[in-house]
Amino acid sequence: MGTLDRNCRALTARLKPGTHIIASIKADAYGHGVVPIAERLAASGVFALATGDFDEAVAVRRAGIAGKILMFGGNLPDAMGDLLEHDLIPTIYNMAAAEAVSKAAAKPTAVYIKVDCGLGRLGILADDAVPFILAVSRLPNVVVEGVYTHVPFGDRAGAAWSQGGLRRFDSIIAALAKQGLNVPITQARASAGALMGLEDSCNAVCAGHVLYGLSPMVAGEATMDGFEPILRSVQSRLIHVGRHPAGRDVAIGGLYGLNTAKVTGVIAMGVTNGLRMPARGQRASVLLRGRRVPVISVSLEHTTLDLTGFEDATVGELVTAVGRDGAERISIEEFAGWQERSPLEAIMTLSKRLPFRYRADSAG
Ligand SMILES: *Cc1c(COP(=O)(O)O)cnc(C)c1O
Repeated sequence: MGTLDRNCRALTARLKPGTHIIASIKADAYGHGVVPIAERLAASGVFALATGDFDEAVAVRRAGIAGKILMFGGNLPDAMGDLLEHDLIPTIYNMAAAEAVSKAAAKPTAVYIKVDCGLGRLGILADDAVPFILAVSRLPNVVVEGVYTHVPFGDRAGAAWSQGGLRRFDSIIAALAKQGLNVPITQARASAGALMGLEDSCNAVCAGHVLYGLSPMVAGEATMDGFEPILRSVQSRLIHVGRHPAGRDVAIGGLYGLNTAKVTGVIAMGVTNGLRMPARGQRASVLLRGRRVPVISVSLEHTTLDLTGFEDATVGELVTAVGRDGAERISIEEFAGWQERSPLEAIMTLSKRLPFRYRADSAG
């Protein structure tokens, strides 16, 4: 996972010196496996980790990671005691949750407040934010350590909208300071905001996509210079080579009544592992011996390949569905594309359904 470290450095290079990085590890670290990723990010010195999933946050704690873990939200007021018990930082956007923290806290306890600057998902509405944050800051044992917002976008039009949200956020932070509340951590930009160089007066960013080498933008809207996918390869092995004589009725993938001889290969990876049939009209391939091999069919536990030209293929040979083999390479974008998924979705469907191996040294 040298790549993850390099992506952290590439993000740092785009930020004002001293800007804190809060690393988003939500959704099982975007499908890459939350505990190993959290360990590596903690070692690379990020300011905090952030997730919305309580069980995953607890798994990270159980793995011995002691740093700050921010909970993005989605917790009912009743859950606040559980969060504090595991030393997880609650995100607050209503008074009931703030009061629950105050009640459950035995000592001064950090919370972050989320402001809705236009996304319309979680958060206290921007118009109500200043009095709300001041009121929360006055509750016993509640310390407003951070205030943040989330205004993600995927294209240039979205960037202009997002910049407006950041200005609104800055004005809230300034109004709080005027009232005597200086918030230690302020954060408003995620991957897209950092990538596109949007401006704010915050001292932190909260990024996920770019750390994993995934673009948060629709294709062609931003370059990912300096960032590389941390998912290096998805591989399997031939578990069978089928040699079908001419005229034999081969049904897989609808190849009925073949007149020519056909060699097929099967790999031990199918729908159950997160693959799916190539979308109509999409050509799917994998790599064998550094060359492209067409996918005939994806079934529940197996994928069948057309090994024409590889008549001497043998059981046990390595097959690459994503990654490099010799001079050929299949990108995660190509792999996701033939399944009509986004790269992130494709990775998330693989997660927990394939054994992952982490390499500390991965390069090139
Ligand atoms: C997911 C998330 C982020 C990170 O977004 P990326 O686009 O992956 O960088 C930041 N803030 C909040 C509140 C989020 O939910």
